[in-house]
This record gives sequence, structure tokens and C-alpha cells, in this order.
Amino acid sequence: MNKMVYVLLDGVGDRPNLKLNDTTPLEAAYTPNLDLLARKGATGIVYPVGPNIPPESDIAVFSMLGYDLSSNYFGRGVVETIGVGLDFRNGDLALRANFATLDQEGIIIDRRAGRDLTQSEASELSKALNKIKLSRGAEFKFVPTIAHRGVLRIRVEGQTLSSEIGNTDPAYARIGGMGVAKEIKGKLTMKKSEPLIGSDSAKISAELVNEFTDKACAALEKHPVNQARQAQGKRPANIILLRDAGSSLPDIPTIPNRFGVNFACILDMPVEKGVAKIVGMSEHQAGGVEDYAVKAEKTLDLLKEYDGVYIHIKGPDEPGHDGNAKLKTNVIEKIDTEFFSRLVQQTDLAKTVFVVSADHSTPCELKGHSADPVPLLISGSKVKRDSACRFTERDSSKGGLGAMRGIDVLPLALKYR
Ligand code: ZN
Ligand code: ZN
Repeated sequence: MNKMVYVLLDGVGDRPNLKLNDTTPLEAAYTPNLDLLARKGATGIVYPVGPNIPPESDIAVFSMLGYDLSSNYFGRGVVETIGVGLDFRNGDLALRANFATLDQEGIIIDRRAGRDLTQSEASELSKALNKIKLSRGAEFKFVPTIAHRGVLRIRVEGQTLSSEIGNTDPAYARIGGMGVAKEIKGKLTMKKSEPLIGSDSAKISAELVNEFTDKACAALEKHPVNQARQAQGKRPANIILLRDAGSSLPDIPTIPNRFGVNFACILDMPVEKGVAKIVGMSEHQAGGVEDYAVKAEKTLDLLKEYDGVYIHIKGPDEPGHDGNAKLKTNVIEKIDTEFFSRLVQQTDLAKTVFVVSADHSTPCELKGHSADPVPLLISGSKVKRDSACRFTERDSSKGGLGAMRGIDVLPLALKYR
């Protein structure tokens, strides 16, 4: 059996951009190593979760690993809670949290509090949050993760909490347990969490979320960290936005059980760690988010021990959210030079299947995730080659693999081992 390297480039898919002479970042980037893999394989396009769904990363990654959870999802809150290693039981309520900035008119001027919150600022603010007292004897834990991100887990002994509640974060809708990015038009304001069904449990859960949110505002408003940030001209992290509630433990078969293969994975973000734990991949961190060479070396190491290595590379998503097409192009080039070059040179390409794709597109013109299909490349000695010379949206749309759904990618790729 050949080994497999499965790389998801977060948000790499894009649209032609005038700043890049009407090409996409993948087209504009110089990527000789990805192109070599494209020439040695076949390409296609993938709807990660389904046509017309602009997914969040969590549900998209589950799909790209072969799991169709779109109609019955346990929720990103649960995935991140598991990712940070918090103990979570059925009937607890878990939510994804963002530190954000509210102005005096009640407008959310930044959903990410300037995106420059340091680890120590987040941890100081979290200490104040964890002193809040909630009614109904509810206990909770707020854990800051990376930059403006965090998770909240609420527990009430003797009371089952319900995930059937709306987000307070206005940028995401909740559809069938899944977080779906909303197109942002006009000014954002905070929302109250509403019960989505008539049960007491949903009502109590929404009340607790709203109570936490109000008390968090009060705890953060005059906090010394925020006063210092404002004195430095930075945006205060003065509210918490919550989304993607979950209240039950995932109950799905692991990748080794379903496919009979042992995967290791390399990742950075808590949500990705949660996905890895749930699907039974052994998780490894290799350097920071942009240490692509370290990630390549770690991949080569892990390949000796495991049937496959899954690598989630966060890099291209953020410049997409910032609408910075030139930076996104540079990030793609850096990944090609520092990551793919090492793998291409140091693996036996005849005995290794490479799968390269994305969890979703993050077009610079939208500054957010879109429902556009993402390019897919599978290379290996058993793959029937097509005429693709490059790994781009346009080449892939004419590729031999055609169009497919995210859940079909891994089962197909495993056949080529
Ligand atoms: Zn993503
Ligand atoms: Zn994103």
C-alpha cells in the first residue's frame, strides 16, 4: 500500500481579482511544486459540504474527511471544547466565542477585536469572565484559545441544556446545527440568543447565554486590559460573541474504524484539534501557523509510522478575510517553496498519493467564505493523469476527476493507494 499525504489549504479557493490582473491568487502565484503534482495526477472540483453552502471550517473539514454531518451536526462549540481538552458531557452547552468590539452606538465595529489581542491580554480578560456568577446554579468555563477566539462551556447539574438556540454573533446563521456565514450587509449589531424550539431546556439555555453575554459586557467594559488597549489606540475587546451551540457528544465511527487506515495529522487551531480527536487521528503540532518547513519535516517523519498524514494549513484563509489578494498570493508561494518543495523532493512520488484541496473558498472580494467549489488534486502512480498543468480553480474545473462532493474525496483517494 502506498502512503498518503492529504493537505487542506484553508480557504485557498478564490475568484479572479482585478489587483492580480484578473487572475486568482492560485493562478497568480508561482507554484512549481504544486504544479508538478498536478502534472503527475488528476484534478477536479469539490463542493466541500454541498452546492450553495458557504461552510465554516469545522463542518467542511469533517466533509472533506468523508463525514456527512450536514443534517445532524453536534456543533462547532462541542468540537472546539473537545479541541482544547475541556471535559464535556451530554447535556452540557458548548459555544464558540469571539472577543469583539462594540462602539458606543451599539454597533459591532470589529468581530475580532482588532485581531491583535495577545495571549496574555486574552488570558487576563478571561480571568475576569470566569468570575461571573450565573443564575440557576449554572457553572461555566471560558477558555481563550488563539488571539480573539475562545470557547464557553456551561453546565447545570440536573438540567440538560439544549443546542437549539440562536447565535448572538450576527455574522453566522445556525442551520441544522451547522454554522453558515451570512453575507454581511450594513452595520452589525448584537443579537439576543433565542430558543429555536419550544422546550424548557432551549429556553433556559438561551437565557443563560444572554445572561453570560450581559455580564461579560459589564466585566470587560472598564477592564484595565481594555483601558490600556484604548490608550494605545487599539480596539477594546469589550463584548463576547457566541455561536454554534452544541449539547451532545459526537457519536461517529473513527477513520481507522471506517476506512482501516491510521492517520496522523498536523494542525494548529483548536477547532482542527477537536476534529482530529473526534475522527481518531493522532494529532501533532509542528511549529507555528507559518512554519511550513517544520510542518514538511514533521510530515516526512510521521509518514514513516502512519498510513497517511493529514495537514491543515491555515495560511491562505486570513488574507482572504482581509481582502488582500497580493498577500494571499505570497502566502501560497511561501507554502509551495517551504512545504511542498520538501515533500516533492523527499518522498518517493511513485509510492505516495498526494491529495491537495481546500475546506472552502475565501474569495478576497467577499472577505468571507463562499459556496464556490474548491480545486482538488490527486497525484500518484495509480491515478489516471489528465491534462492539468497547474493547481488552480480554472485548470481543476476541466480536470479528469470532474465535480464531486467533499465526502467522496477521501474514499476516492484511498483507492489510489
Ligand atoms: Zn477554513
Ligand atoms: Zn475563514
